[in-house]
Amino acid sequence: MKVFVVHYSEIGLKGENREFFEKKLVENINRKVKGAGALARRRFGRIIVEIRDESKADEIAEKLSKTPGIRYFALARVCKLDIEAIKKAAVAILQDMKFSTFKIAASRSNKSFPYNSMEINRMVGSVVVEKLGKKVKMKEPDVVVHIEICEKEAYIYTERIEGVGGLPVSVSGRVVSLLSGGIDSPVASFLLMKRGCKIVFVHFFNETLHSREVRKKIESIVRVLAEFQGESKLYMVNFGDVQREIIKVVPASYRMIIYRRFMMRIGEKIARKEGANALVTGDNVAQVASQTLDNLAAIYEATGMPVLTPLAGFDKEETIDLAKRIGTYEISIQPYPDCCSFMIAKHPETRAKLEVVKRIEENMDVEGLVEKALENTELVTIGSKREQ
Ligand code: ATP
Ligand code: MG
Repeated sequence: MKVFVVHYSEIGLKGENREFFEKKLVENINRKVKGAGALARRRFGRIIVEIRDESKADEIAEKLSKTPGIRYFALARVCKLDIEAIKKAAVAILQDMKFSTFKIAASRSNKSFPYNSMEINRMVGSVVVEKLGKKVKMKEPDVVVHIEICEKEAYIYTERIEGVGGLPVSVSGRVVSLLSGGIDSPVASFLLMKRGCKIVFVHFFNETLHSREVRKKIESIVRVLAEFQGESKLYMVNFGDVQREIIKVVPASYRMIIYRRFMMRIGEKIARKEGANALVTGDNVAQVASQTLDNLAAIYEATGMPVLTPLAGFDKEETIDLAKRIGTYEISIQPYPDCCSFMIAKHPETRAKLEVVKRIEENMDVEGLVEKALENTELVTIGSKREQ
């Protein structure tokens, strides 16, 4: 019989905290793998995913590799707690593999097992040498055979698959992410998912000839991100009225600051409704004109909520690398009409002053515009229900 043995990072996890974390991770895994007929349970200080149909192993592995909170996992053979059975299982696994050097890496969480890790390594290793004629090599062998001795059974495997790490989605609560069609904000959303946040997405658009394409693009990005966090909510906010008012009232150099302040306010309202207590943006200090510290200060002042900017210290290359790894890059680089680029000045203000911003907004019905945009908002749910 085979199972997936799942390990997570335990650093800093103690007492009740640890149980909460483990339960959440089991719950998140089960939502994803149920459809493939698998079941995850907490056993012996790790998570064991039982599989009913071995032909679904790749599909399950793919899902585990996208589940935040998992450090690594392995498809393992289950073996009874008996050294002879363990030797046999190790030989059975290795005899179908091509390699010349190996080492055995046993770990024993069950201290009542009669042999310690060193002894297991030696005993199993010599059988492999004898039966298969292979060589033991401690440094960089071709194959490492992992043997985990637990309370009721042992797990044996040769391949560890890296997970995304971090914390299980939802242990840290909810946040609202302002998602553009660009490269940065999907990556920012992913990074917070990895810190245990469930992300609610908000996108601002205006009704144009291209709305359908924009919508398709944003939904595709959310679909990729939903593979990590499960079923995801996307609020599509029609920003047309706010934009028309901004063009009428706001000098070109301040438009970007003002429209982004509206995004913060509307995002905050959605966050309160969703029980989220922070906003996330893909801002990156000094990358583009909108992102000088003066401008960010003027933009974020519009909300009382914490604004999380996980990319603040990233180089563009680092963001692009990560976007490629999570699978959003190819979608993000497809050209699309940004909702607000048409109204930005050739030389936007790079040192926005709050007094100026406030004076401009005195001439606007801020609350009314926010309410109107919220009325013109549609909620879309993305990702299968089963996998939520
Ligand atoms: P991105 O690659 O995420 O678009 P950027 O470096 O291009 O970021 P801007 O386009 O100025 O910078 O946007 C800064 C941030 O503002 C974005 O990361 C996103 O969080 C938010 N944002 C911008 N446009 C929108 C939009 N239409 N809908 C939702 N959020 C937006
Ligand atoms: Mg952008």
